[in-house]
Formats: sequence, C-alpha cells, structure tokens
Amino acid sequence: MRAAALLLAAAAPAASAQVVASGTIPDGTAAPVQAADARTVFPASVPQGSMVIGKVPPGSVVRYGGRTLRVTPYGSVVFGVGRDASGTLSVEIQPPGGAPQRAAITVTPRDFPTEYIQGVPPKTVNPPPEIAARIEREQAQVTAARVRDDERPDFAQPFQWPVQGRISGRFGNQRVYNGQKGSGHSGMDIAAPTGTPVKAPAAGVITFAAPDLYLTGGTVLLDHGHGVSSNFLHLSRIDVKVGDRIAQGQIVGAVGATGRATGPHLHWGMNWFDVRIDPLLVLERAQAAGKATP
Ligand SMILES: [Zn+2]
Repeated sequence: MRAAALLLAAAAPAASAQVVASGTIPDGTAAPVQAADARTVFPASVPQGSMVIGKVPPGSVVRYGGRTLRVTPYGSVVFGVGRDASGTLSVEIQPPGGAPQRAAITVTPRDFPTEYIQGVPPKTVNPPPEIAARIEREQAQVTAARVRDDERPDFAQPFQWPVQGRISGRFGNQRVYNGQKGSGHSGMDIAAPTGTPVKAPAAGVITFAAPDLYLTGGTVLLDHGHGVSSNFLHLSRIDVKVGDRIAQGQIVGAVGATGRATGPHLHWGMNWFDVRIDPLLVLERAQAAGKATP
C-alpha cells in the first residue's frame, strides 16, 4: 500500500488549514471526505499518466502547472500528469481567508515498453506533403476542442469501460510503425469487432465529431469538464453531434478500423487540456474508489 496523502507546508504552521493524510489513497484518488469539509487532500504520489483529483477548502484559489484550476462548490480539483512527468509536482492553494498551502506530489516512473506494429498502410506512416498539411489542419481542430474548461464535474464519476475487450495497446508505449519509430501511444486500444457500440465512459458534452480524419478516422471528443476529455478514434459509425449532452453509458458510435489502424479496435485517449493521461489508470481509480466522491 502506498504511503498516504500528504501535505503541506503552510506559511503559518500552527493555524494552518487542517491538512490531511489519509491511509489508502489509490493513485490520484482523494480520500472520501464529508461535504463542506475544509481539509486539503492530495495523494502523496501518483504514477505517470494519472488523473489526479484533490480536495481543497471550497472557495480556494488553486494553481498548478501554470493554470488556475477550476474548483467545484464541494472543493474538488483535477489535473493530469503527463507520461514524461517526473520529480515532485507542486500545487499552490490559497484558501479563502486562510494561510497559503502547498501540496507536494511525487511522480512515480513507469515502464513504457516498445510495441512493433507491422502492416500499417505506408501512406499513413510517411504521408506526402499535401496529406501532411491535411493532418496538421485536422490536429489543430482537435486541439482547439481541448482548450475548454467547463464547469461540469463529470470527470469525478467512476469511469466505465467504453467497450469490453482485450487491451491490444497500452498508453505511453513507444510505437514503431513498419519499422519506423513513432511517438508514445496516446491512449489505450481495446480490441473489439467492427460495429461494437462505444459507450461513454463518463458523462460529458460532445466537442468534436468527424467521420474521416486522415490518421484517426471516425473521431469523437467527449468533454468531461475542468479540462478533462476523452477521445474515441477509428470509429466505423458516429451517433452523436457537437453540443450533445451525453450520459454515462450512452452510445456515441461504433468500433471500426478507419484511419491508421491495422484492424478493428477502439482507441480511447484521455486528456487534461493538452496533457495526455492514461484511461486505464482512470478506470483503476474508479474501481478502487468504489463509490467515488463527486
Ligand atoms: Zn491507439
């Protein structure tokens, strides 16, 4: 069991806000606390690729990674820790009327093995210039959909698998396509037959939907609030449109092999703004938390 949560050095130690260490925090999961609780709780350590949910006194101003984090009325905040993050992360908390606090979170390194993928259509590995321009344009549209910082706390729901199946590709693994080195895998792949319904792992709003992007094929983005979003790639069918409010478990489309894919599977990626996080850790967090706190 990982050593518990943490915390922090306040400027005025004696009178500082009650800072809590709680015993059994799985990665990224704040301990369940009572509503209107004024404590500050963050995990002491998190693996690379985590979604971190913390608890601060409601009304606090919280800064992390150059951003001011949106705080729910309950006092929840969320941020993502990238694949290549390392060292100690620092969260600055200014409670209303209290002394400033700082939470320090240690990033636990992970192993990211290399995956060799053969049989990818060569034109998707080395696209000609006109295609490269198209890819860039499409990426810009997707990136633009990820700058939102909506108030909805859908990210706090316990996430569910969007499809059931074997994990055929893991987050972060170094990819080598047809012998050529690519970047770290940006999400997790779940093998499933073409046409298998893809269900929203948590509630959200559709912020992007396009049937045929060059690399990612049928592509849907689902925004879970506070900068957290899911993307579903290679879809054979899309059942939603931009602006749709989606409930957890609602069908957004169907598994396919469109774009750069060697066979039917769902690629499920997650982001905190432009930071990619590992959906599998988010699922494990949901499992560990049981009934998570909203
Ligand atoms: Zn993938």
